[in-house]
This record gives sequence, structure tokens and C-alpha cells, in this order.
Amino acid sequence: MNVEEKTHLKKAEDLAYDCVRCGYCLPACPTYLTMKTETQSPRGRIHLVRMAAEGRITLDELSGPIDLCLGCRACEQVCPSNVQYGKLLELAKTAIQHHKKQSASPFRRFCEDVVFKQMFARKNVMNKLGGLLWIYQKSGAKKIAHMEPFRRLFPENLALFDKGLDEAKPPFKRNDGRRYPPAGERPVLKVAFFTGCVMEAVFHRINRLSIRLLQQVGCEVVVADKQTCCGALQAHAGEEETAKMVAKRNIEAFESEDFDYIVNNAGGCGAMLKEYGRLFADDPDWSERAARFSEKTADISVILDMLGWKPEKTLPYRVTYQPSCHMTNVQKVVKEPEKLIRSIKGIEWIPLNDPNVCCGSAGIYNLVHFQESMDILGAKMADIKGTKADVVVTTNPGCLLQMKAGIIKEGLNGRMKAVHLVELLAEACGIDSSHRGQTQG
Ligand code: SF4
Ligand code: SF4
Repeated sequence: MNVEEKTHLKKAEDLAYDCVRCGYCLPACPTYLTMKTETQSPRGRIHLVRMAAEGRITLDELSGPIDLCLGCRACEQVCPSNVQYGKLLELAKTAIQHHKKQSASPFRRFCEDVVFKQMFARKNVMNKLGGLLWIYQKSGAKKIAHMEPFRRLFPENLALFDKGLDEAKPPFKRNDGRRYPPAGERPVLKVAFFTGCVMEAVFHRINRLSIRLLQQVGCEVVVADKQTCCGALQAHAGEEETAKMVAKRNIEAFESEDFDYIVNNAGGCGAMLKEYGRLFADDPDWSERAARFSEKTADISVILDMLGWKPEKTLPYRVTYQPSCHMTNVQKVVKEPEKLIRSIKGIEWIPLNDPNVCCGSAGIYNLVHFQESMDILGAKMADIKGTKADVVVTTNPGCLLQMKAGIIKEGLNGRMKAVHLVELLAEACGIDSSHRGQTQG
């Protein structure tokens, strides 16, 4: 183990000492519930981190159970000892990632660099990829790809998520640097809108609807130029330095003007933005700026609720809500989405039995650990089916795609649809009725 790996593991070990091994977290952990082994539980993983720090197991042995953790942080919420599991997980992942890089082939290192530093960390690259996806969808290539015999060439996971994808962002559309006036004469708030990378490239229509909702409640909305990906994907993969690099770019981009709030509509991204303060806590040059940025970050549901958003239409839907884990467990935004949904006339609200159990999406977990993710999704869909809802509302792009995948897998297409909260609210005030999260399949 090199110094870098030891340092990160030591910090993780210090946090692990807070665990008293009571096991209260086990029933809250989706991987423990589906895999039923101690090593796939929070308590087991914490113990393994201690063993690795003490040299009783190798980082390669630690890597499996840590990789299979969703990072949903449901365990943190029920822990009586306040174990900082999220922080511990990130430290362990950073140590493992350092270790893997030492032994990785130059090709693998190059690929990781492309994905983390050149793709997700660069907005213009993500926009170009969104443009290519749009061409694929509009040219008819998507239809052909899902026909025999071509569909057999598609890996199962990509084929499933491709069916649920929204219309991607056209290559000629640009939004950065634009300003949107409030509906009234004077803005009640001046907010910056955080577009996100996947959200903007793949769900750009939801971003446009978000801006219109904010305008409607009296906000002047600015899509700050030079903003980029939030860095969550990199942080959760143990790429701490790259996560910091993109975080710094965002902090600088949103300091260009004095905004009341920095608003986002993706639970996972919002959680990462909220954590910038913690990410730079030990950096005297950035800690204050990062903390200020995080304080101003807010989910769109919080702003809409605060400014008294009112629906205009009656929507006769039976609705259930699958919250984003990071929105609940990190941002602590719980009441606002439910309050907004329930304020719509005609809606029948049916809560899930276990809304706080992760759906199995977790960033790119559902791509890299497809089978495990589908097992977790299976349990979630059983809960959703029990509600007999016709609309499932979510608050994060990954969760939205996962819910759409669940609907396709369960053969519920046509009877049940998954939508982002913003789509439902927009429809409820007549901004958009074309949405309804169409899936193909
Ligand atoms: S609930 Fe907390 S203290 Fe108890 S086993 Fe889980 S992590 Fe450890
Ligand atoms: S973060 Fe989620 S998946 Fe990971 S140990 Fe905690 S509850 Fe389990």
C-alpha cells in the first residue's frame, strides 16, 4: 500500500471506530436486503474497511463489497452512533481507486481519464454526445437498433435504458449564458439554474420546464455560463481530484453574479453541490467560497414551495412518489415534493411502503452492476405495483430512467408512467402536457 492509499484508509478507519456494530442499519440497506450477506451490509463494509486499514485484508479484497454499495446513505439516517458512512465510503473508494490505478493497464487508465476528465467533466463534450444521441433517435437508427436481428447486438442493460430515454438535446440548441425574465414585473428572487450534464444532454426538456416554473413564481433565472458537471460521478468513483477540479469550475462560474439561490432539479447533483463545503473544508483557499456556494444551493421543489407555487389544473392521476436517496439523505429535502404534488386537485396520493429504500439506480451502478441493480429494482417495483398508481414521480434523472426501466420490465407500459416532479407540476399549471415520460417497449 502506498502513502496515498494508507492516508485515505486511515481517515476511513478513524470514522469506522464510531460504529458500535448494533446492526440497526441492516434492514435499511438495499444491498443487504437483496444479497443477504454481512459483507454487503453497512456494518460489514465498515468492518472490512477496518480490516483493510489494519492490513488483515488487501484493497483488492475490500474492493468487491465497496463497489457493490449503492452509496444511497440510507444507513446513515438510522444509525444511532452517527457514523459518517458517506464520508467513510468516499475515502475507501479513493484508496481503492489509487490502488487500481497503480496496477491498471495504460489503456484502462486512458479510458478512465476520458470518461471522468474529458467526458462528464466537460459540458461541451456532453452537449455533443447529447447531439449525437438526438441524431440517433431522430434518424430512425434507434428504431432499427431495437429490431431483429440488430437488437441482439445491444447489451441488455443499454437496450433497456435506451427504451426509456427522453428526446435528447438537439445539437443546435444552446442555453448557457441565457437569462429568463420573471413572469411579474419585478423579480422576487434572482436565481442561477444548474443544468447538470446528463440532465441537460438527455432531459433538457425537463430543464426548460424547470426554468419556466421558476419564471412563473417570479424568479429571474440565469443559466450561468461556464458551469459544468457537479462532480458526483467522479467523487463516487474515488476520483477525488477530478471531483474537486469540476467543483472549482462551478464555484467560479456561479460567482459571476450575486444570486439568491443556485437551483437544481436533480437529487444526486443537488446533494453533491451541497457537499462542496465539506469537500473543501481543509482547503483555506476554497473553503469559504465552497461553503457559500453550498449554502445557496437549493432543489427546485424548495424554491417553488417557498414562493407559493399554485397549480391551475385538475389532474385525475393516482400518484406515488419515489424520492431520490440523495435528495432525502443528503439534501434533507423531504416534505416539499410531497406537498407540491398533493396540492394538485384531482390527484390521489398513494405513498410507498418503503419510499426511502433505493431503487438501484445510483449513478452508473445500474450499468456496471446490472443484475444486482435489477434485483433491487424488482423489490422497488413490487412496492410500486402495490400502490396501483398510474404515475410514479421521481426527482433525479437516474431514478427516472430506473423507474422507466422497471415499468418496461414489469410489462406495465401504457398503464403506468414515470415522470420527473417538474413534468407533473408543469402540466398542473398548463405549461406542458406533452410529457408523461413516454417509454418505448
Ligand atoms: S447502525 Fe451505525 S453503529 Fe450500528 S452497525 Fe450500523 S453503522 Fe454501525
Ligand atoms: S450506502 Fe446504501 S447500499 Fe451502501 S451500505 Fe449504506 S444503505 Fe447499504
